[in-house]
Amino acid sequence: MRQRRLSANRYRLLRTVEPLHYHLIITPDFSSLRFSGVEQVSLLIKKSTSQITLHSVGLKISKVCLVVNGGNLTPQCTSFDKKLETVTFKFGKRVPAGEAELFLSFFGELNDKMHGFYRTSYEVNGEKKWGGATQFEATDARRAFPCFDEPDRKATFSLELIVPKEKTALSNMPVGSVEEGHDIKMVRYQKTPPMSTYLLAWVVADLECFEALDKNRVPIRVWTTLGKKEQGRFALDTACRVLPYFAEWFGVPYALPKLDMVALPDFAAGAMENWGLVTYRETALLIDRDNSSQAAKQRVAEIVSHELAHQWFGNYVTMKWWTHLWLNEGFASYMGPKAVNHIFPDWDIWTQYVADDYCSALHLDGLKNTHPVEVGVGDPREISEVFDAISYSKGSVINRMLEHYLGEELFRRGLRHYLTRYAYKNAATDDLWKALEEVSGKPIKEIMASFTRQPGYPVLKVQRARGGLRISQERFIFDGSKDKKDPLWKVPFGVAYESDPEPIFFYLDRRSTTIPLELDDGEWVKVNPDQSGFYRVSYAPELMGELKRVVGTQTLSKVDKLELLDDALALAKAGLVKTSDALGLLASYSKEEDFSVWSVLAASLGTLDNLLGREAFYGSFVVFAKEFFTPAARLIGWDKKPGDGHLEVMLRSLLLLNAGWYGDRKITEEAQRRFQEFVAGGTLNPDIRQAVYTLSAENGGGEELEALLKIYDSTDLQEEKMRVLRSLAGFRDGQLLRQVLQFSLSERVRAQDTPILIAGIGSHSVGRSAAWDFVKRNWKKLLGRYEGSGLGLLSMMVEFAAGFSSEEELRDVAAFFRKERRMGLDRTKRQVLESIRSKIKWLRRDRQDIEEWLRSRADYKLVPFGNR
Ligand SMILES: [Zn+2]
Repeated sequence: MRQRRLSANRYRLLRTVEPLHYHLIITPDFSSLRFSGVEQVSLLIKKSTSQITLHSVGLKISKVCLVVNGGNLTPQCTSFDKKLETVTFKFGKRVPAGEAELFLSFFGELNDKMHGFYRTSYEVNGEKKWGGATQFEATDARRAFPCFDEPDRKATFSLELIVPKEKTALSNMPVGSVEEGHDIKMVRYQKTPPMSTYLLAWVVADLECFEALDKNRVPIRVWTTLGKKEQGRFALDTACRVLPYFAEWFGVPYALPKLDMVALPDFAAGAMENWGLVTYRETALLIDRDNSSQAAKQRVAEIVSHELAHQWFGNYVTMKWWTHLWLNEGFASYMGPKAVNHIFPDWDIWTQYVADDYCSALHLDGLKNTHPVEVGVGDPREISEVFDAISYSKGSVINRMLEHYLGEELFRRGLRHYLTRYAYKNAATDDLWKALEEVSGKPIKEIMASFTRQPGYPVLKVQRARGGLRISQERFIFDGSKDKKDPLWKVPFGVAYESDPEPIFFYLDRRSTTIPLELDDGEWVKVNPDQSGFYRVSYAPELMGELKRVVGTQTLSKVDKLELLDDALALAKAGLVKTSDALGLLASYSKEEDFSVWSVLAASLGTLDNLLGREAFYGSFVVFAKEFFTPAARLIGWDKKPGDGHLEVMLRSLLLLNAGWYGDRKITEEAQRRFQEFVAGGTLNPDIRQAVYTLSAENGGGEELEALLKIYDSTDLQEEKMRVLRSLAGFRDGQLLRQVLQFSLSERVRAQDTPILIAGIGSHSVGRSAAWDFVKRNWKKLLGRYEGSGLGLLSMMVEFAAGFSSEEELRDVAAFFRKERRMGLDRTKRQVLESIRSKIKWLRRDRQDIEEWLRSRADYKLVPFGNR
C-alpha cells in the first residue's frame, strides 16, 4: 500500500513553483505538418530553487529564459526525463521566492495519434486537406506546450493562433481580436478563467457552422467540415435545451461567454468536454436527415448532454487528481441521462440506463481484478486505464444510489453547495461527501466510502426467516471465489412485496440481519426495487420461484425485471445457482415487449452463445435462442407501424438482428432481399439498415462484401461507414474475414475506426480466433499506431480475447501478454485472463446441466446446427 503510494507520487511535479498564467502563441504549418510555439508562463516561486521542472514530451525546446526581478537567466543545463515526461531547467544559481516569467520557444509535430496537437484530414471539393485539433485529457497538453500538466495546477490562459487566412480557428474563449496578413491571420482569444491544462483546446480547420442562442442568451455553435453543417442542427437544438437545463438544475450559470461544439473527422474517444470548445467524433454529433437512425440520435443527445454536464462537473470544479476521476465522469454519466430524460421523456432513458450503465458497472466490478472507484494512479498509462466502466458507470450508479437515498432536493442542494464552494478550484471525493453531509445531516461518507474505497460490490442473500427476511452480504465475484479480506458494505436497501408493493427501506451495516416483514406464504418479495442500490441479490429457491411467477406479467417494473435476469446469469456464472435455473427464468420472458428488457435478454443469450459456441450441443442452444427471438421479431416486422415510437424502432432492429443471427431463415432472406433492392438503387430506412447489412454479411459471400465496401466508399457520413464496418465483422467465411481484417488496416479505414472493426470480428465465436491471430501478427504495427494516449483504442484489440473459453486459448493469450509487456494495459490484461479462466470454470461446472436443460425442452426440436 505504502509502496504503491510512493511510486504514484513520483509522477507529480514539486509544488515549489506554481503557474499563474500562460501566454501561448501557436503556429501550425499544414504543409510540413509541424507547429511552433512561443510561450510565456507567469510563475509564483514559493520556495527559492535552482531548477524548474515542467511536463513536456515530444517537443523540441529551442529557447528558454527566466526573467526574475528584471534580470535574465538562461539554464545551464536542460534535461528531459522520458519516463516522467518532464523537462528540467537548471539555472546554476538559486532563484529567489516570488514572481518570475519563464519564456520558451518550441517545435512539435502535428501527429497522427489523435493526442496532443494532432492532424485531421478531410476533403474539400475532392481535394484532401489538413486541419489540426487538440486532445489533452488526460496527460497530453504536455505534447503541445511545456506546462504543469496536472489537474490541480489551474491557471489562466491567453492564446494566440497564427493560421492560414481561410481556415477557422477556435479555442475555449471568444475571439478578442484578429490581425490579418497577406495569407495568414493572427487570432487572439480572450483570457480564460482559472482552469486545468487538460481542458485547454484549439481547433484549426476548414469549418462551417450553425449558431443559436440558448434561453439564457449563451451563443452556441455547432461546427462541421465544409458541406456538413446541416447535420449539426439536431445537436445544436439539443445543446440549446441542455445547457439552460443544467444552469437551472445546478443553480449555477454556464461560466463562459460562449459554447462551441466541433465534429472532428479523426477522434480517438467519443467526445471531449474542453471548456467552451467541446470536440466530438462525427458520429457523436452529426445527424443526417435521410440517413441517420433513431439510435444515432439518441447517442448524440446522450453524448452532448454528458459533455455539457462536464462544463460544471469537471470544468468549473475539477478533481484534485485522477484518483478522483469519477467526480468528473461519474457525474457527467449521471447528469447526462437526467437532461436527456427531461428533453426526450418518451425515450424512457432511465430504464435504458439500468440495462446499460448499471449492468456494465456490475459486470466490470464483478471481476477480482477490478479497482476501487477512488484509485491511486501515477504514470500516464495508469491514468489512461481508469477511464473505464468503474469511473463512468459505477461512479454514475453510486450517484444514483445517493440521490435515491437523499431524495432529489437534498441531493441537488448538496451539489449546489459543493459547486459553489469549489468554483474554479479542485476537489477530492471527501469534499463532496462533506458538502452533502452539511446539507443533509446524514452519514454520507460512511455509506459511500464503502462503495468508493473498496473494489467490487456485495451480493445480498435473501431468505425467509421467522417474522420476516434474513439478509446477509458478501462480495460478489464472477469466478465464484471468496475475497479473503471479507469486506463489508454499508447498504441502504429497499424491499417491496406482493401485499405492499411500496418499497420500505432498511440499512445493512453488518454481515447479516433479519428484517421484520409480515409475509404471507407464497407471496413474492423483491429486494432493491427499481435497482436504486448497487449490489446483486440472490434469492432462496422458494423466493425465486415466486418472482418467476410474476416476471412474465406487468407486476414488476421493467428495471426490476431486467436486473433479475442479469443477476440470475451472473449468479449462475459464479456458481451460486445452476445455469439451468437462470435459463428457466430467462425462458419466462418470452412475451416481453420492452426494448431495455430485450436488450438484456439479448446480452444474456449472447453471453451463452459465446460460452457454448464450440460445444457439441451448440445446435440446441441456437434452436432455443432462435425460437425465443423469432415470434417477437416476426410480430414487430420490418417496417415502421403507425404509433411506433422511439423504443419500438430500436427494438425492431435488435429483434431482427438477433432472430437473424440465430438463423431465422425468413428474416435473413428478407434482409437479403432488401439489401439487393438497396444496392440496385432503392431506398432503405436507416433504422433497419444495420440489421439488413449485418444479416446480409452473416449470410453472404464475396458479392455482399464488395457491395458493402462500395456503400462504405461512396458515403461521407461516418455513421453509415460505421454501420458498414460493424456489418463487415459479421462474415462467417474465414477467407472473407481475413480479407476484412486486412482492410481494417488499409488507408480507407481511419485509425479511429480500425479497432472497432477488429474487436467486432473478435466479439463472436466464429471470428474470434481469426481476429486474435491478426492482432498478434500485426501487434508491432498496432502498437506503433496507438501507443501513447490511444490506450482506449489499443485495449479494444486486447479485450475481446476475454471471450475465449478453453485452456489452450488461455495459455496462448497469457503467453502473448507476457511477451508484449510494452503495451501497458496491465489491469486490462489481468481482467482478460480472469474472464477466460472464469468461463473455463463455468463450463466445467455446468456444461452438463446446460445440455440437459436444453435437451429437456420438449418444444425445442433438435435441429443440426448446419440447417438453422
Ligand atoms: Zn466524460
